[in-house]
Amino acid sequence: MKGKKMKGSGDRLDPRRPVSVWRSQDLVDGRPAQALTMILRTRGCRWNRCTMCGYASEGAPTSADDLIAQFERGMERCSPEVSVVKIYTSGSFLDPEEMPAKARGQILRRLQAAGIEKLIIETRPEYVNSSAVEECLSRLQTEFAMGLETANDLIREQLIRKGFLFQDFVRASEKIHRLGGGVKAYLLLKPPLLTEGQALRDAIASARAVRPYADMISLNLCNVQRNTPVERLWERGEFRPPWLWSALEVLKAAPPPVICDPVGAGTRRGPHNCGLCDASLAEAIRKHDLTQDIGIFNDLNCQCKKAWQKLLELEEESFGCPLC
Ligand code: SF4
Ligand SMILES: [Zn+2]
Repeated sequence: MKGKKMKGSGDRLDPRRPVSVWRSQDLVDGRPAQALTMILRTRGCRWNRCTMCGYASEGAPTSADDLIAQFERGMERCSPEVSVVKIYTSGSFLDPEEMPAKARGQILRRLQAAGIEKLIIETRPEYVNSSAVEECLSRLQTEFAMGLETANDLIREQLIRKGFLFQDFVRASEKIHRLGGGVKAYLLLKPPLLTEGQALRDAIASARAVRPYADMISLNLCNVQRNTPVERLWERGEFRPPWLWSALEVLKAAPPPVICDPVGAGTRRGPHNCGLCDASLAEAIRKHDLTQDIGIFNDLNCQCKKAWQKLLELEEESFGCPLC
């Protein structure tokens, strides 16, 4: 669902330790802010069917007390400069089966007591109901991030297997806005079985379509995660993660604010170009997150840019066969 999911600190199987915790500087409400991010190990996403998602392997049976213990470990990395806390669960924070009401309530109370200004959580739209949203908002400003992936229902249903419609996202977003919360939409570049050009155009069209319903757009560059349908396609040479050149095009054309964390950039399983320019493009993408200045991309060049342009042209003629 989200881009920034990397394993880091934490014992893989200990239900009382978070999967990962890290600090970063992020763009929040138009200004850079110190953020603390934690990935809590829950039982995992109840949907668990999206073709690119391998988060099921992170799940484990966890009780409300386990989740509170994980959260407290994560909070050990907090300090007075932190104004934003992001809590990811490899699923939906608002799903009561995944995040029991007791744990959710305790986490919210604790964040309020710690003086945190803003919470960012993720949820599928079907768990967005007034009482859950109000519970969060009664404690602190909250942004509800939803993995829409694309505004195109056909691509979302058939290629991503997401299991909800654009209208479901719109309804959830309107409810959150009515209650005073913020909405972040995750978009995916590039879903399986699309050419590079189709994926690029879909991401730009999606960003434009989603703008009225999302305060922030987060562009996720598709990674090849383990034990997923996308991995099987990739192993057969039928999927290539997006080029970083494509990501730049989307960031240039999408109506701001739009952020992007190029997780895994430069690796075979992550978004990549030729190997020579990947680091500089990834750095420019990260800088753009904080400034929203697309001028940052002007000076980037590499010999592989021509190959990427040629590929965009040729793939239109290749009858759905990716030219890696
Ligand atoms: S909804 Fe999100 S967490 Fe669940 S399977 Fe899909 S991408 Fe993964
Ligand atoms: Zn290059």
